[in-house]
Amino acid sequence: MSAAKSLSICHLFPEALNLYGDGGNILTLAKRLEWRGIEARVQEVSLTERPHFADFDLVFIGGGSDREQRIVCERLLAQKAELKAFAGDGGALLAVCGGYQLLGHSYAMGEETLEGLGLIDLTTDRGSPRLIGNIAIQSEICAHPIVGYENHGGRTHLGAGVKPLGTVAFGHGNDDKTGEEGAISGTILGTYIHGPLLPKNPGVADWVLARALEHRHGTAELEPLDDSVELAANSVMYERLMRGEERE
Ligand code: GLN
Repeated sequence: MSAAKSLSICHLFPEALNLYGDGGNILTLAKRLEWRGIEARVQEVSLTERPHFADFDLVFIGGGSDREQRIVCERLLAQKAELKAFAGDGGALLAVCGGYQLLGHSYAMGEETLEGLGLIDLTTDRGSPRLIGNIAIQSEICAHPIVGYENHGGRTHLGAGVKPLGTVAFGHGNDDKTGEEGAISGTILGTYIHGPLLPKNPGVADWVLARALEHRHGTAELEPLDDSVELAANSVMYERLMRGEERE
């Protein structure tokens, strides 16, 4: 047991960014810490607050519609330098869908283009049709496939040298063309996968927690957990998709 350990988690703007149960990712992170005897200090930060990012080990940004994204984007740009410093210092950052798009340089939404945080070399533009449905990818960061749900109009293009989170086995991914999904850069992970992402993908949860633990305690070592229930849920979905029994 590592009873003396603790991690501080920042849940950004839950009132605006909680599509398809994205808030459930926070529950998974907190539980996986609790099961290991590590204290999880979760702080929900609303749009009216100004978080002190240097106090946190992990920041989570969920997905939102274009309307919410516009509001959130303006709010986050006011703290662009602080977020950059947080990630530069090895803080873990997990961003889903709308949050993922904001990590890049820009999100072109027809007549309007939102400036992004520029934390990862990527750009997004809105296309048609929306890319909706179940998704499964293979990723280097975990042994099991990553399964979930995607619903986005945005097509995300990674800059040269930016690593995707994984390759698409079923579904659309970043742009429906490259067969790539998400992006990883240092301690930052961005993905289109909702569902929520983490309950059925314990390997992804532990990748993020390991980065946060490294940031706070200088070690990425996490005690293994019994993930049989999570992995059973994961493989039921994966097998269904691979057998062609599930569509959008
Ligand atoms: N507004 C973005 C899009 O449609 C993201 C939507 C989402 O977070 N699901 O591309």
